[in-house]
Amino acid sequence: MPPRNALLPRLEAVLYSGQISEGEPVAEFETRFGTLVGNPNILSFYSGTAALHAALILAGVGAGDEVVTTAMTAEPTNMAIMHAGAIPVWADVDPGNGNVTAESVAACLGPRTRAIVVVHYGGIPAPLGGIAAAAARHGIPVIEDAAHALGARYGGAPIGTHSEFVMFSLQAIKHMTTVDGGMLACRDPALLRRGRRVRWFGIDRTQPRTELDVSEVGFKYHMNNVNATIGLVQLDHIRPVLDRYIANGRWFDAALRGVAGLELCSWDRAAEPSYWFYTVLCDDRAGLSKHLSAHGIGNSQAHKRNDVHSVFAARRRELPGLDRFYARMLHIPCGFWVDDETREYIAEVLRRGW
Ligand SMILES: *Cc1c(COP(=O)(O)O)cnc(C)c1O
Repeated sequence: MPPRNALLPRLEAVLYSGQISEGEPVAEFETRFGTLVGNPNILSFYSGTAALHAALILAGVGAGDEVVTTAMTAEPTNMAIMHAGAIPVWADVDPGNGNVTAESVAACLGPRTRAIVVVHYGGIPAPLGGIAAAAARHGIPVIEDAAHALGARYGGAPIGTHSEFVMFSLQAIKHMTTVDGGMLACRDPALLRRGRRVRWFGIDRTQPRTELDVSEVGFKYHMNNVNATIGLVQLDHIRPVLDRYIANGRWFDAALRGVAGLELCSWDRAAEPSYWFYTVLCDDRAGLSKHLSAHGIGNSQAHKRNDVHSVFAARRRELPGLDRFYARMLHIPCGFWVDDETREYIAEVLRRGW
């Protein structure tokens, strides 16, 4: 949360304004968030999952279509594909960072593929250049799940500017939070009007209520003025927060190089990660985890590979890159709360061995 004295007067004002649902603060938040991610075409939602579902609808994905995606992610990525009635097709991941590769995505494209969903796992940008080329050859859009990648860059440009759709989550534990919320950056401004209908029961709120026609299924997915107000105040304070994640991540990149038994993630030269967490790779992951826990250092595997859930069972296939990454990944903290002393301590404990 931003500083109390900055947030609470604004929050109180909106709570007692008589206008707590979607209004001016939501529109203002969309505009200002667009400046942060370098894309003026922003739609807000009540969650990142809702934003992803809407992106799939706007991309023309429907029942029975295939969407190429990754199993190395949080469940919402692939649940949104199910919400759209579509079928997730697992592209394998790079064992060096957990992201899909252009080659693994291209190998999954078929006549029924209608979109590609790309996750920047842990904030490391996936190789968007090659993925965009594969998508273009196939004539389908790319939807980025950038829930971990606010503040990341690829090819010198902010994540938010590269694909047809880019989703950001503002859920409680993401880089920036509005308690809950999701933002969708769209390439085509002509889609915004339909997007606003999709997020509000199919209703065009600019038209007189008794004269308009609802022509497609819509959802109750909009953001409200209360969450948007938290977001507006957050934007005044978020830059140093993002910068601290990135500074900690870069510090670990240098400090942990060469630690025996530890492999660091590698990535596309064009990628500049936002380090939502810091992933290390280790053959003795259990031993490493025990060592860190014994020294009071938080560590986790964060996510279960999605393809082993029974809801996705019908689509299982061999994923050797994922097998290797999943067996060796461990995430350690590098967020805004990790100060200089803490990161020194983490590196020192890792250098001691386990
Ligand atoms: C958090 C998260 C989401 C969904 O965000 P919500 O805002 O909680 O709906 C989607 N994908 C990934 C990878 C996430 O970590």
